[in-house]
Amino acid sequence: MALYKDGTLVRKADSGLGAFDKEWKPGETPDHAGIYKCSGCGDEIASNKGIQLPSQNHRQHSTSQGSIRWKMLVFCQAG
Ligand SMILES: [Zn+2]
Repeated sequence: MALYKDGTLVRKADSGLGAFDKEWKPGETPDHAGIYKCSGCGDEIASNKGIQLPSQNHRQHSTSQGSIRWKMLVFCQAG
């Protein structure tokens, strides 16, 4: 689970920000920079805008974990 130290520097997203709902496949390039979490194994990674998410071999999944599906956990905004 992602951690943070200073709660005044992060806030809960407004509902309707669809960036949190989309699942990305390995090697796809997300629209926004952020921290992404694999719905299968729970790994969290940072991803820059325009850079591909890790490929299929980011970690070996068991059959119960299913396929690699990246979902945005933290949306990074420009200052
Ligand atoms: Zn995974």
